Amino acid sequence: MGDIPKSDWKVQRYLYTRDISSAPLITLLLKYVDEIYQPRNEEEVMEILKMAKQEGATVIPRGAGTSGYGGVLPVKDIALFRFSSRKTIMIDTTRMDSFEINEDEQIVECSPGAVWWDIEKKLNKKGLTLRIYPTSAPSSTVAGWIAQNGTGVGSLKYGGIAENVTKIRVADFNGVKEVEGKDLKYYVGMCGTTGIITKAWVKVKEVEDMHYYAFHLPPHKAGKLVYEGEHYAALYLDEGYVKLKNQSFGTNLPEKDTLMIATTEKMSEGDEELGEEIWETRFYPMRVRKLGPGLVAAENVLPVDSIPAYLNALHRMVKQPNGSEIWYVKGKKGAVLTFIPSDERKFLNYALTWRQSLRALRTAKKMRGVPYSLGLYLSCESKLLLKQDYEEIREFKKKIDPEDLLNPGKVFPKGVFPLIIGIGQKVVIL
Ligand SMILES: Cc1cc2nc3c(=O)[nH]c(=O)nc-3n(C[C@H](O)[C@H](O)[C@H](O)COP(=O)(O)OP(=O)(O)OC[C@H]3O[C@@H](n4cnc5c(N)ncnc54)[C@H](O)[C@@H]3O)c2cc1C
Repeated sequence: MGDIPKSDWKVQRYLYTRDISSAPLITLLLKYVDEIYQPRNEEEVMEILKMAKQEGATVIPRGAGTSGYGGVLPVKDIALFRFSSRKTIMIDTTRMDSFEINEDEQIVECSPGAVWWDIEKKLNKKGLTLRIYPTSAPSSTVAGWIAQNGTGVGSLKYGGIAENVTKIRVADFNGVKEVEGKDLKYYVGMCGTTGIITKAWVKVKEVEDMHYYAFHLPPHKAGKLVYEGEHYAALYLDEGYVKLKNQSFGTNLPEKDTLMIATTEKMSEGDEELGEEIWETRFYPMRVRKLGPGLVAAENVLPVDSIPAYLNALHRMVKQPNGSEIWYVKGKKGAVLTFIPSDERKFLNYALTWRQSLRALRTAKKMRGVPYSLGLYLSCESKLLLKQDYEEIREFKKKIDPEDLLNPGKVFPKGVFPLIIGIGQKVVIL
């Protein structure tokens, strides 16, 4: 394998069995990766893929590991209902972190491991800025977000990541290709099950003066106000989340439902000081984890008019202190992220608290909601999320990867996980 940086050190192999999630018992179904490669360019990615194909090894691409859906986790063969064991290789893209800014076309050509906030800092020096980015931007990578089909800051105006890349390059066992237009659907949100993204062209824009406003409003009024103007971003913090935020940040925000709007328009009402304070802390939604210590989370996307009823249902259902934040998205939808701090060291209680996440998903589905992403944990929901594209993408996957070597068990349901989550939604949480 030439001189591609590689590790099979046990500690590192152990560390790479983790992402940001910490779901109880899951570790029993995971294994150590066998080898970790850190390719420096596309040719090295191809070399690794060629070797994996020859050896019948499975391949998991990994960016910064900040996703909480298990998309980067190595699953035991037995948990995939496979009874002969296969070697598992991880492709860690963090050395492929370069990017090039095309000022005239307002496009950045990014290597897969480029970190969003590194890009933003360089763009700002040229009077440009990202149109959208995740709140994990200080560490998460370009390809990781594309493979998760994320939405984030700016998605109110500019939509999700699929609408903000013009083209990607992808490596699979047959070579490298450039993909654009409607074919992006075979890769965006597919968690590397259909190929390794080696390059992405991301749209950017000119920096504009931004104002931040805060309003204390119930969710139905907040949803209405957000879509009245052409705003850039909007974040809703319910009262429960503001309380958790005050405790974990040591702030003294008014403990009321609060909407923050970031906009280029001047608004006649709204608290600008509070708006700015909320904006400045947008990167740290998970800080509430320290209150557990540990966190149970649920993340579902709902039509804006279903959100008030969904939040009400959550408030009735969840007895422990909890809170939700909502990033509004183009097309009158909101990504609702609910946090329940829970002590990870108290195993039984922590495991039981995870039922609330499944209950939240079940409730969201009844209200025309969908899970935010699929990864490993929610592969049982892929038909719901991918809708009419599901069969077509599955056929495509079978064609390009008939032995299911590319990130098996993710997105396309297979083995124990979809069964557990599927049954969990129906039975365990009654
Ligand atoms: C504090 C915090 C805030 C967050 N905020 C947001 C947010 O605002 N919006 C949002 O959508 N998410 C958010 N997330 C979730 C997560 O950060 C994002 O999904 C992020 O973009 C994932 O990037 P990553 O580099 O960490 O990818 P990873 O977690 O490493 O990987 C994610 C998936 O992509 C696949 N993948 C990685 N690289 C490649 C590649 N080169 N080719 C193909 N597949 C690949 C992996 O196999 C995996 O399935 C947040 C997480 C945290 C911890």
